Amino acid sequence: MNYTYMLRCSDGSLYTGWTNNIEKRVKNHNRGKGAKYTKARLPVKLAYCEKFSTSSEAMKRESKIKKLKKSEKEKLIIDFERNENMERIESFSINHLKLLPGLYVSRKDTFNDVVITTFDIRITRPNIEPVMGTAAVHAIEHIGATYLRNNSKVKENVVYFGPMGCRTGFYLILNGDYESKDIVELIKDLFNFILEFNADIPGATAIECGNYSDTNLSMAKYYSDKYLNEVLLNIKKKQLNYPK
Ligand SMILES: [Zn+2]
Repeated sequence: MNYTYMLRCSDGSLYTGWTNNIEKRVKNHNRGKGAKYTKARLPVKLAYCEKFSTSSEAMKRESKIKKLKKSEKEKLIIDFERNENMERIESFSINHLKLLPGLYVSRKDTFNDVVITTFDIRITRPNIEPVMGTAAVHAIEHIGATYLRNNSKVKENVVYFGPMGCRTGFYLILNGDYESKDIVELIKDLFNFILEFNADIPGATAIECGNYSDTNLSMAKYYSDKYLNEVLLNIKKKQLNYPK
């Protein structure tokens, strides 16, 4: 991998370069072995970094950034920091042993300035409670996706709703920049809908689904009831934010 980067020098000025080993490169700068400019302004800190598969792309980007005004470089750094903060909330970096059933923002992704929020709808306690059965998960998936895609308040922004492979919860992906508390009412409505659902499970036919007979509505209701009572009806801060 190749990187175009900017360093913040001790005098506040910026240094732009490219490298194929960003960690080593920053260390070398701080040892005074990176460049004359940075050697006279130690210590330096990584302020900005962009990845490229080829070195020529990284070099091209370097010369482009070098031609930018200081204010334009600072703008790049602000956007970069915002994205970095978002990456830190990725779900794989959390300790699942401390994770309670809850409603969390798993991550936010930005595509051309459009923010997409992925929610972690965690129903059972990972590695402590038994996981949900596939038939319950499957029924919640079908009814839940149908409900969300027909809900006039959110249907325009629903990207995806589906189960986690570990069978402890579901992911909901919405177009927009949300916090977990913003969707508590929506998720309450969703699980109340499943709780009151008494019809054929939508899409559970051989033509529409890959394993249509593997659904269990009464177990879907059991988990909906559990999630409403344990999480949604009296949701606490620690059930809205990932454990540190
Ligand atoms: Zn299915």
